[in-house]
Amino acid sequence: MKILFSLLLLSAAIVVIVGQKEKILTSIMLRGAEIQMGRNQIDDLEDGLHVSLCGAGGPMPAPKASGPCVVIIAGAKQFVIDAGTNGARNLVRMGYPVGKIDAVFLTHFHSDHIDGLGEMATLRWVSAANSSPLQVFGPEGVEAVVSGFNEAYAASAGHRNEHHGDGVAPLSGRGMIAKPFRTPPIGEAVEVFRDDNTLLEAIRVDHGVVSPAVGYRIRYKDRSALITGDSNKSTNIIHFADGIDLLIHDAVAPNLVNLMNKAAQKLGNRGMSKITVDILDYHSSPVGAAETAREAGVGHLLLYHIVPPLILPGQSSIFMDGAETIFPEITVGQDGTSFSMPSGTKEINLIRDEL
Ligand SMILES: [Zn+2]
Ligand SMILES: [Zn+2]
Repeated sequence: MKILFSLLLLSAAIVVIVGQKEKILTSIMLRGAEIQMGRNQIDDLEDGLHVSLCGAGGPMPAPKASGPCVVIIAGAKQFVIDAGTNGARNLVRMGYPVGKIDAVFLTHFHSDHIDGLGEMATLRWVSAANSSPLQVFGPEGVEAVVSGFNEAYAASAGHRNEHHGDGVAPLSGRGMIAKPFRTPPIGEAVEVFRDDNTLLEAIRVDHGVVSPAVGYRIRYKDRSALITGDSNKSTNIIHFADGIDLLIHDAVAPNLVNLMNKAAQKLGNRGMSKITVDILDYHSSPVGAAETAREAGVGHLLLYHIVPPLILPGQSSIFMDGAETIFPEITVGQDGTSFSMPSGTKEINLIRDEL
């Protein structure tokens, strides 16, 4: 009798819940939208230097590794290094205020590092009614990249201004403005941004035939990080990474790329057969990045630009190929991986694993 009563009660509850399903869902969605629009991840961070991957991958599609994109919060500044596919969308998903991006810094002009620029500039523009264009710093050649995007997005910007008005999409804030700097020679760093607490410098890296190619070192108060962009293991990186807190290094695994090469050859895919040989001469392996971290004496190593995509469970240990025995303080990045380095401390805290 008691069981029957309980079953009746449960059935009645299900009928009520099903009847109310749309109402409940609508209310959850409304609350979710309020939370998403009001989110500002920066407000939750302590004073310090904070680094997140808005894109942990390279040019290949990967479920947890979008095109290369690194966001840096230095005090009140929000800088983005490279703008790969989905970078801006991942920033929104992570709760970063895209409308408050202060500048983008490009490492080089390979497509996977720039193909999210148009979207990043557009989201920054309309999400905060910005009245000045997005600043895009880069070595010589950045002017052509920026002017090409501006031309491609000109019609879209006009449509958005007409439809939403100057209060949302003022024409003065559309697109981007190029901020070229001189690529420094080996052994020299060129200053690209400075304020009272922050110094951002570009250094030359070794991306084989691709030149110019730079990495960026940032110091905020007593904390520091270096983002390599795409590079072979390089003595210049070791020199400038000396003693920094966090090294964010590209990593392409030769053992896994060789497997892809075998598959491509078997399928008679001549393009992939050649690409899977070519890419190994201008990227670091995980082992090379770990050696760099050890030689430079950095606090922690975060691998990004992960190639090939890591999809299978356990694949990451094959990818590492022993890198963790060379330098144990190592993390394989995914979209959303975030580190926080509060100023006045020695802490390097992993505050988020993935999106
Ligand atoms: Zn790349
Ligand atoms: Zn590249």
